[in-house]
Amino acid sequence: MITETTINEAQQKQPKLYAHFMHLVQQNRLTHAYLFAGLAGCGKKAVAQAVAMALFCEHPEPDGAPCGVCTECQRILAGDSPDVVMVSPDGQRIKVDQVRYIKDEFAKSPVEGSMKIFIIEGADTLTTNAANSLLKFIEEPVANRVIFLLTTNKSLILPTIISRTQLVEFSPVAADVFAAELAAEGISRKQTVLLSQLTNSLEQAKALTTDDWLGHLQHELARWYTQLAKRDATAFVTVQTGLMPLATDRERQSIVLDAIIILWQTTLMVKYQQTDLPQPFPDSQADMQTVAQSITQRDLLAIVTEALATKKALNGNMNFQSIIETLTLSVLDGLAE
Ligand SMILES: [Zn+2]
Repeated sequence: MITETTINEAQQKQPKLYAHFMHLVQQNRLTHAYLFAGLAGCGKKAVAQAVAMALFCEHPEPDGAPCGVCTECQRILAGDSPDVVMVSPDGQRIKVDQVRYIKDEFAKSPVEGSMKIFIIEGADTLTTNAANSLLKFIEEPVANRVIFLLTTNKSLILPTIISRTQLVEFSPVAADVFAAELAAEGISRKQTVLLSQLTNSLEQAKALTTDDWLGHLQHELARWYTQLAKRDATAFVTVQTGLMPLATDRERQSIVLDAIIILWQTTLMVKYQQTDLPQPFPDSQADMQTVAQSITQRDLLAIVTEALATKKALNGNMNFQSIIETLTLSVLDGLAE
């Protein structure tokens, strides 16, 4: 049943946060605005929905948890409750009319219950204008309104939003839980470590492994990395011939950058001699040793910082190819010293 899976999902993926929020509901100590940040599929929406259900449930459990089967719980899950407003990006972004809808709903009193809950997925896709217009509501808390902003990319959220909400960082789903799910889907072990660092969504994991897209990405990034380790400028050619054909749309471009960030963060772990951790790029282990030995900690940190900044550049509509080429140049510079 859909209800049970949502509550189970929240419980299994985020046992501590789930228990924490059930406790807050019971104690009537929810604050008015939360920012839930974490990987896709890590249970942010499930926890937010569970909170809404717990608030409206007709027969809550002794620990404050929702029953999942009463009319109210069912309506919330079906998206039919007038007092639980759920919005997710229409395509790439949350559109202007969706923002208007949120604001209209915010201005209205609760229809049936005494509370009104807002669950807004993809909060990082709000335009600056839209985010600022929502900020007005967040700044002036209205009684009996709780807003949950959900994001997979905290770095793209306006600092003004972060400072006016309570930030809740969702940790990735326990590796063994997700790895078991991936294995059950027949995804090879060579890819599960990288996948579990890129997403916690089984649906997205399946999409990324279709036609071995992720396998190709691992292969091309390993090639790019080998060339960089040798200070070989043909790494530029690999960007064009190996990486560009894989970055077919905005989502894939974003994943390629995430994988590059993981590649350099892993190098940093090797530099710090944290070599017993699961390897997202098993074919690059020898090259990582080479790079770690030939670069200072400071230069390596600079590369990781620059890799992290590529996501902002992409969101700022910079050309994807020039983003990776600029990074390639910086890495060659950093390694040459
Ligand atoms: Zn219920």
